[in-house]
Amino acid sequence: MAGTIPLLEVYPELAEALPRVSLASLPTPVARLERLGTELGLDHFYVKRDDLSAAPYGGNKVRKLEFLLGQALHDGRKATITFGAAGSNHALATAIYAKQLGLRAFSMLGYQHNAHSVRKNLLRHYAAGAELYHDRHRPDAVGRAISKIFQRCKAEYGSYPLVIPAGGSSPLGILGFVNAAFELRAQVRAGRMPPPDRIYAACGTMGTVMGLLLGLRAADMDATVVAVRVTPPPFTDAARGRRLFETAHRSLREAAPSFPEFSFPESQFELRHEFYGEDYGLHTEAGQHAVRLARETDGLKLEGTYTGKAMAALIADAESGALDGQTALFWDTYNSHSLTEDTAGIDYRDLPQDFHRYFEEDVQPLDIEPSYKETGS
Ligand SMILES: *Cc1c(COP(=O)(O)O)cnc(C)c1O
Repeated sequence: MAGTIPLLEVYPELAEALPRVSLASLPTPVARLERLGTELGLDHFYVKRDDLSAAPYGGNKVRKLEFLLGQALHDGRKATITFGAAGSNHALATAIYAKQLGLRAFSMLGYQHNAHSVRKNLLRHYAAGAELYHDRHRPDAVGRAISKIFQRCKAEYGSYPLVIPAGGSSPLGILGFVNAAFELRAQVRAGRMPPPDRIYAACGTMGTVMGLLLGLRAADMDATVVAVRVTPPPFTDAARGRRLFETAHRSLREAAPSFPEFSFPESQFELRHEFYGEDYGLHTEAGQHAVRLARETDGLKLEGTYTGKAMAALIADAESGALDGQTALFWDTYNSHSLTEDTAGIDYRDLPQDFHRYFEEDVQPLDIEPSYKETGS
């Protein structure tokens, strides 16, 4: 059946309870990272290509949006409102797919250290027709803007916008990653890769890693999820992550009584802090080294805010011998489709004034040249 996903095949009762809209091309490929593996001395090193999860925009947020926007349509909403930093991949993905489904998107964005990726995302965000707000200097103004948006939507559409939390990491959104674990199990069973021992992923709002952990447990896979923290608390916070896991687990068991009971698998979860650096969105030497190495060996397109830091953790573990004899899987969460065609006609001065600074001020010193990122296959 078109659009069926493994989680709903195993638990068909969930399909009734969980309205979902198909946005992604699943399963995403699993591939061996041969050259990078050789470079790092790893014999069993694989990547999960969520960078190709959907067109025109991939990355990890699409899996969550299938459930979140499915809910919005089911509830008869006509708009969404969400939150993120200026270069947010989540708010951008929401804007692109909301528009595709005929929903209006409102994005409330905060300051982010400047980078070429921030500029690209802002232009694409604007091209998607989202209404963008920046809270720089005026956090109270954002509160007022939000209540105005609510009033406007109520008057115009008869309904309030669906509020989607930062990163899409609600108990509903993370079901996209519970499914991803079942998808991975099917790929392992089909011989695409051996069962992984360690899965590395960047941890921003914890939805990706908590959804995966929940799904791995349910799918009876014992890989350790290595969550590489790239945000400050409260976005990454062990207790909050655990609550997210438990709330999603409870709702799955309510909707599908045969969904297994288990407690939070402490021993299968590793939260790593040493690759964060000094701030969210502030690149690190180790992260940028990882971006370059992944690019030069196997052509992966990583970036400094999330995936570079996650790969830096994996590289450090390879170098320390912690991955000897292990099968490692890198979960590539960053969109790799080019955004430039969709933004060709856009002038940054068309964006709200508060965003102009990102185009007029320098990028952070460690940011890699865009020409470097855009060239090659
Ligand atoms: C949002 C994001 C993450 C983090 O995912 P969470 O579910 O928020 O933890 C990782 N990588 C990229 C590229 C992202 O955009």
